[in-house]
Amino acid sequence: MARISVDRDKCVYLGVCESLSPKYFQLDDDGELVLPAGEQVDDADLPEVREAVLGCPTEALTLDEG
Ligand code: SF4
Repeated sequence: MARISVDRDKCVYLGVCESLSPKYFQLDDDGELVLPAGEQVDDADLPEVREAVLGCPTEALTLDEG
């Protein structure tokens, strides 16, 4: 199963990922990025999560598809 990782040193908390895949990426009330569904990605959700990872302007997201 694919797994998301976040490089928090690169994340600038603009929320592009949240807009593309809100199930997996959300900014909380403090502006921190959280992964509400966890790091593991269901196969059915892979297309949208790939989009979110590619859409991150600072390349803070990695998707390890094993
Ligand atoms: S798109 Fe990238 S920089 Fe923006 S909040 Fe998501 S992980 Fe952080």
